[in-house]
Amino acid sequence: MAASRRRKSKSVRGRSRQGTIRRLGPAEIRLLFERLSAANPTPETELVYRSPYQLLVSVILSAQATDKSVNLATGPLFEVAGTPQAMVALGEPGLAGYIRTIGLWRMKARNVMEATRQILARHGGEVPRGRVELEALPGVGRKTANVVLNTAFGEPTIAVDTHIFRVANRTGLAPGRNVRAVEDRLIEVAPGEFRSDAHHWLILHGRYVCKARKPLCPMCPIRDICLYPDKTPAGAPAISSSG
Ligand code: SF4
Repeated sequence: MAASRRRKSKSVRGRSRQGTIRRLGPAEIRLLFERLSAANPTPETELVYRSPYQLLVSVILSAQATDKSVNLATGPLFEVAGTPQAMVALGEPGLAGYIRTIGLWRMKARNVMEATRQILARHGGEVPRGRVELEALPGVGRKTANVVLNTAFGEPTIAVDTHIFRVANRTGLAPGRNVRAVEDRLIEVAPGEFRSDAHHWLILHGRYVCKARKPLCPMCPIRDICLYPDKTPAGAPAISSSG
């Protein structure tokens, strides 16, 4: 058991063979973002939304769910309840009918409805642009607030999810033991011109290239920069996984 735990730890964190955590230097970090930027100059969230309110609802619904499953539910939902006023008119049972395919839907329906009521009562029907006000809404933690601040309002925040945590540790870009440590390190090391898009580049890279079970190292645009000691060799059989 201990040996398997050690193997798992090594597979996530960018350690040298001797166990020392290695970090990329400033020039390598700049090159890493230049490569990700060149591969995808205008990265965007895969959630479909038309307003900060719709984005907020989508992000609340996306906890432990795929963006695809959220979009399937919010497409019809936003047709009838795309604004806070319409959501309150729909009511919690009505909302539940649209999101039952998404995990934790009962709790999420409660949170969306209560957050919506607070947006109407305290913020004039507009999603607040401040972190403190956002995090005061039910169902909104630091990660959700970071996504909304970055994606809806263009703030240079970086929301660290499981994909970004893995990429930051494997590559040596921003190693950290928990998501907050990785977030703080990313904000510190990401060059200013790349900070606003860093969230999307890293999440998409983790989702589609640097997958959890078998990273696609042979086709990775940053493989020569990455410090991960257990890169997938060329010609290794593929494992079907969404990461
Ligand atoms: S080389 Fe492999 S481990 Fe490193 S970032 Fe690319 S896919 Fe991930």
